[in-house]
Order: sequence, then C-alpha cells, then structure tokens
Amino acid sequence: MNKKSILSKLPSVDELLNCDEVIHLIDQIPRKVVVNSIRKCLQNYRNKILAMKESELANLQVNMSELIENVIYQSEKFMAMNLRKVINATGVVLHTNLGRALLSDEIKEEVWSVAAGYSNLELNVDTGKRGSRYSHVVELIKYLTGADDALVVNNNAAAVMLVLSTMAKEKEVIVSRGELVEIGGSFRVPDVMEQSGAKLVDIGTTNKTHLWDYEKALGENTAALLKVHTSNYKILGFTEEVALKELVALGRKNNVPVIEDLGSGVLVDLQKYGLTYEPTVQESVALGVDVVTFSGDKLLGGPQAGIIVGNKHWIDQMKKNPLTRAFRIDKLTMAALEATLKLYLDEEEMIKKIPTLKMLTESVASLQKRAQQLYDILANLDLPMEIKEDFSQVGGGSLPLEKLPTKVIAIKPMHLSVSKLEEKLRSHTIPIITRIQEEQLIIDVRTIKEEDYDIIKKALKDTMKI
Ligand SMILES: *Cc1c(COP(=O)(O)O)cnc(C)c1O
Repeated sequence: MNKKSILSKLPSVDELLNCDEVIHLIDQIPRKVVVNSIRKCLQNYRNKILAMKESELANLQVNMSELIENVIYQSEKFMAMNLRKVINATGVVLHTNLGRALLSDEIKEEVWSVAAGYSNLELNVDTGKRGSRYSHVVELIKYLTGADDALVVNNNAAAVMLVLSTMAKEKEVIVSRGELVEIGGSFRVPDVMEQSGAKLVDIGTTNKTHLWDYEKALGENTAALLKVHTSNYKILGFTEEVALKELVALGRKNNVPVIEDLGSGVLVDLQKYGLTYEPTVQESVALGVDVVTFSGDKLLGGPQAGIIVGNKHWIDQMKKNPLTRAFRIDKLTMAALEATLKLYLDEEEMIKKIPTLKMLTESVASLQKRAQQLYDILANLDLPMEIKEDFSQVGGGSLPLEKLPTKVIAIKPMHLSVSKLEEKLRSHTIPIITRIQEEQLIIDVRTIKEEDYDIIKKALKDTMKI
C-alpha cells in the first residue's frame, strides 16, 4: 500500500465526532476542545505515516481505538489544570520551585470570602470614603514588629527596589562586599541597586568589613547605609562584619538612615525550638534600623509578599513613589497575609497552625511515628525499603547550614532503576517529588501530609505496572 491510500483511510473529524466514546467525551469536555484534539491527533497520525519508510507501510492499518484513546487523552490533558498540587517528598520545607511557604488551612475561609465576594479593599467602612488597601495589615505589622509604620508590596525584591528608589535615587548607598548577595539568578543586590537608580559604594572585603570602612566611605552624597542579611550563605573562618547596633549608631551620628534587607523576616526566635539563630524583624526594629524589608513567603510562612517596616517619614515617601502602584499586592495576598499574621498573635497556636513553622519544628519522635505509618501503608507493595535517619533542609535561601534531623523512607526498587522510579513518580497525575541518595529513592515525611500517604502508595503501585 502506498502512503496516499493509507492517508485516505484516516477517518474524518466528523467520523470521529460520531464515535460513541467521543460523543460520551463531549458530555464532559467542551466540544471545541475535543474537535481541536481530534485535529491534532489526526495531524500527528499523518505526520507519522509520512515519516515512515515504504517497508514499514506494508501491514499498516489505521488503528481507530488508538486514535480515539489519544483524542481522549489529549482532551483531558488540555482541560486539566497545569498549575496543580504536587507532593513534596524532598524534605525541603521552603522549596522555591514548589511554591515556597504553604498557607494554613485555618485561613481558607478568610481568603475565599475576599476572593469570591466584594470586600472593603479600598473602602473605609467607618467614613464611607476611599480607604487604603494597606490599612488592613499595617496595625497588625506594627503591633507584631514594634515598627512605626509599614507597607506591603509584591515580594521582597520589589520592596528593596522601592526602598532604594525612594531613599537613594541618584545618590550613594554603602554596602559591605561580604553582603553583595545573589538570590536565585535574577536577584542580585548590585543589579537591583542599579535598577533603582541608587549608586552602589561597595566597601571592605568579602570576609572582613570594619566600621572604619563605612566611615571612610561616608560623604556628601551618601543616602543610606545598607545591610543585607546573607540569608543563603555563611562566610566562616577569618571574618568580621559590623554589628547592626554599631551601624545604626554610625548612621545616627552622620544623619544617614540605615536600611536592612532581612530576607526571611522571621517573627519568632527559632532558637527556642532548637533551630539556629536567625535575626528577627523585632530585633532590627528595636535596634533602631530606619527601614527593614523581608519576604512574606519564607520563614514568615505566608503568601508571596514584600513587607517594609520602619520610620513613618520614609514609608510616607514610599507611598508617593509610582513604583508602589506597580508593585502593589492583590486582594487575595492581602487577605492571606492578614490572616497569617493574625495567627502570630498566639505563640502556641502559631507553631501548630503555620505549616512552615510546624514542619520546621516537628520532633524526631513525631517524624519517626509518621515514617512508620507511611511504611506500614506501603508494606504490602513488596518493595525493598527501610526507615532511615537523614536530614531535611529549610530551603528558600533561609538557614543554609541548618540540617534538620529527620526520618525518611528509603526505597531500593527491583523492577526498575532508581532514576526511572524518580521520574515516574514525578510524572504521576499528582507529581511526587523525591530525591535520590546512594542509589536509593528518598521520601522525607517532614514535608508530606498524612492525607497524601495513600496517593504515594497508589503512585508507587502504578510504577510497578509494565
Ligand atoms: C529572598 C531574599 C530576597 C528576595 O525576596 P523575594 O520575596 O523572593 O522577592 C531579597 N533579599 C534577601 C536577603 C533574600 O533572602
């Protein structure tokens, strides 16, 4: 048979539309989508035939059921949400690629009622006049941090940009060379400064910066001293940096404001829970830093946002900067942020209800219990596995050296290679993200919810089918 005659045997779009399976499909999926999938599948089939060698054509039959199956698959795939739930079995709590901080179940109602209905986003219900979208969280942030005033934007990168653009445009900002941080490819302190119009004056060396380095650099054109928290790396060994307190004193003496980019913006002293010390927002405010910026979705455990706290004089100026409008946060974020911050009002509740804090502070005993639970659920799959001790990470460029002791399930598959198993789990309907270590597949229970154990079991079972 030649190609032309095979191609002529392909069904038409209408023929496919009249098949029982496709008629049934159109009950659930918009007709337009199905027609589009049919066209695509037919085109693929045509291309496949055209690419074949004459010798391969001999026994070729148009396979109707395969074609229909493809149409169903393509239509369903088109309708499925592309941005969707995954199971994070990596043990990295603030996994930037997996959406960083999880929002608390506790705040669902609050967020949804603002999302699905009208809200007083920019209405002052007391006066009936126009209100400010920032007003909803300002008092709360002031109360929690001790700051004079606050403003919230889209993320911390935007916060830093807004602060520098407002306070230091066409002027100099002094930064230690040890703090020229890069956070993921696109955020580099020197680049953000350049974009904001501020001029970077870098001082000291990578490992040592002294107070006199700052003093020497101070001049007529100095708009601010900037301290950047080296949140995603540590310089160890022969090092020296100027304490915030000394920097604030120097700023005061010279009438130059001090700005601090804190990165993670933790609001509780994590040492109480056995983690490494991470400077809190309250401490920076108490030490007299004029303006502090931090993220909403790192250790704070809220939605993506950039929070700016500090001196009212500066915050007022920022509000007048046109960038504030460009960087403004939407109502869903506002609702989620306010509701998350409210959880901070009760410290005991906060640790239980903010998922990031809960995961970071889970005890090894509790992790062991949960690992055993998952192990028992997976036991009858007949997969060689064991419960092992390992370490989870904080992630999100926070506490880079922290190794959180955890319990993991380590699987050594027999039916396929470890990397193939990792790949198959990753491409499951609900993708399961794992890691490989010493030829074993590692499932860290720290970042897995109990309700997902059965999904993991089903996915593992699916990988055993041929
Ligand atoms: C993470 C981080 C940023 C960027 O914050 P986003 O909220 O991700 O925009 C800026 N500065 C520091 C020091 C950080 O750690």
